Amino acid sequence: MSDVLHRLVEELSAGTLQVVDLTIPLGPDTVVIELPPMFAPSNGVSIEPISRYDDAGPAWYWNNLSFGEHTGTHFDAPIHWVTGAKQPNGTTDTIPPGRFVGPACVIDVEEAVAADSDFLLTPEGLAAWEALHGTVPRGAWVLLRTGWSRREGKEAFLNVADDGPHSPGFHQETSRILAEDRDVLGVGVETVGTDAGQAGAFDPPFPNHTTMHGAGKFGLASLCNLDQLPATGAVVIAAPLKIVDGSGSPLRVIALAPA
Ligand code: MN
Repeated sequence: MSDVLHRLVEELSAGTLQVVDLTIPLGPDTVVIELPPMFAPSNGVSIEPISRYDDAGPAWYWNNLSFGEHTGTHFDAPIHWVTGAKQPNGTTDTIPPGRFVGPACVIDVEEAVAADSDFLLTPEGLAAWEALHGTVPRGAWVLLRTGWSRREGKEAFLNVADDGPHSPGFHQETSRILAEDRDVLGVGVETVGTDAGQAGAFDPPFPNHTTMHGAGKFGLASLCNLDQLPATGAVVIAAPLKIVDGSGSPLRVIALAPA
C-alpha cells in the first residue's frame, strides 16, 4: 500500500482524521428550488415501499425512489447549463472520477450573510480570504460557508419575498476568477442552488451557473456542516450517481478533515 493511503487509514482509525458529512437528509421534506411559474418545476422526493418483510417480499425491505436530479444535496454537471452543453465529458456518466476529489477552500461569510441575505462574494472578498489562507489551488472545491443550512423549514430556507428569493451567492467576476484563473473543480454552497436568490435578475441571469458550467466546472448545492471544516486542509469527495446523460444528481458529499 502507498505510504499516504496507509497513513490515511491509520489516522482515520486513530481519529486524528475524521469524515465530515456535508449532506442533508434526502426525503419527502427535502426542499426543492421553486422557479417562476412560466418554467417547468422539478419534482421533490417520493419514496414508495416495494416491500417491507410482508406479503410483497417476506424477508426484504426496499423502495422505489423518484426525485429531480437537482434535489437536496446535489451535484450540478456542466451540461446542466446551456453554456456547458458542448463541454466534453460534461454529463454525470462521462466526468472522469478523478475530478470528484479535491482540496476544500472554505470561505466563511456567515457574519456578512447574517446582516445581508443577498450577500455576494466579490473578487475583493476572495482576495481577502486568499491573503489569509493562500491562493485557491488548481482543482479545489471552493465552499461558501454562509450558515444557510441552519435555516429550518421551506420558508426560511428559500426565503422568498414579493420580488423573488433572497439568498447569498457569488459575484459574476468571482465565478470567472475561480473558473478561469484558479481552475477549480467547482463551487459548493449551503443554499438551494449555486447562484444567489436574486440572480435571475442579474446580467447575465444566473451568472455562476453560466460561468462555471461554461468552463466545464461543477456545482454542489444544499451542503451542510461547512462550519466543521478548516479554511484549508480538508479534502472533499463528491461523486454523483452515474446517470446516463445526467445533468446532476443527489449525492453523499463527504470531507476528510483533521479532527
Ligand atoms: Mn442544481
